[in-house]
Amino acid sequence: MKFLSKLTAIGLAFSLAAGLAGCQSSNAETTSSAADTTSAAASSESIPDLEVTIPLDDVTLPETTAASAESENASESTAGGEGTTAANGEVDLSKVVALTFDDGPDTKDTSSSNRILDVLEQYGCKATFFVQGQAAQDWLPERNKATVKREADLGMEIGTHTYSHADLRKLSADEVAEELSKGAQAITDITGGEVTLMRPPYGETSASTQSSIPYPMILWDVDTLDWQSKDPQSIYDITMDQIQGGSIVLMHDTMNTTADAVEMIVPKLIEEGYQLVTVSELFRLYGVDLEPGYYYCNAREAGTTVSPFSGSGQ
Ligand SMILES: [Zn+2]
Repeated sequence: MKFLSKLTAIGLAFSLAAGLAGCQSSNAETTSSAADTTSAAASSESIPDLEVTIPLDDVTLPETTAASAESENASESTAGGEGTTAANGEVDLSKVVALTFDDGPDTKDTSSSNRILDVLEQYGCKATFFVQGQAAQDWLPERNKATVKREADLGMEIGTHTYSHADLRKLSADEVAEELSKGAQAITDITGGEVTLMRPPYGETSASTQSSIPYPMILWDVDTLDWQSKDPQSIYDITMDQIQGGSIVLMHDTMNTTADAVEMIVPKLIEEGYQLVTVSELFRLYGVDLEPGYYYCNAREAGTTVSPFSGSGQ
């Protein structure tokens, strides 16, 4: 079995080298703010290319998909498509995916975050919300704290998207640490739960601070471009075209057009036999250990030390 693991590791190294941007979609984790986009583009030009080092020794590789599902208590996750759980308790990993929502809770009078929660609740699905601490704590605080509390009460996973949607590429290590601790504290103050995941705004932090990030950095392999198109049909089409087992889908719960799309996407995924789980559950099912300071685009591939979106012009 050790030999097999080595072979798997070698194969994985090759596939990672060949497809570091296996997250093939363009980097669009951004607000539509022109100022943000402009300054982000200027900043990324100064980031040098880095060699990718993959900590294969530290990565738990799924030897076979069936085995890794079997080794875990797969029966725990039956929400959102019980049809994907076989009678023997094994989960079909080709049908397990994670929807993720950034930037919330919604801060305009849209109720889009709660509309998305309504759909997830109706279908018994889980998702991960990368909450912006400032939006949760300081903007429409009464309503938004209630929204984050509802996310937690429904069993959704809540990660941090920093406190102020900061571009971490431009901050010092101390400033990054403050953005992350304030962002996570805002969530913990509301839910009482510990934050274990983060999503960096714009999909990246700087090379100098990446290794000191105390969370795994969760990216995506399906970019719905919802913030750009604001077109529910387009968001739906991109999701249904690109999604596969282990995928992480990027959306934003701050827009009603995204809520419109979610109302179409969730029932369709369920109909196609998909199981919608949190990011942590997705990686657990795939037998991949999430490590602080590494980027993850989907559960099929190991973490990397360089964002696949590095130098993408964002
Ligand atoms: Zn964002």
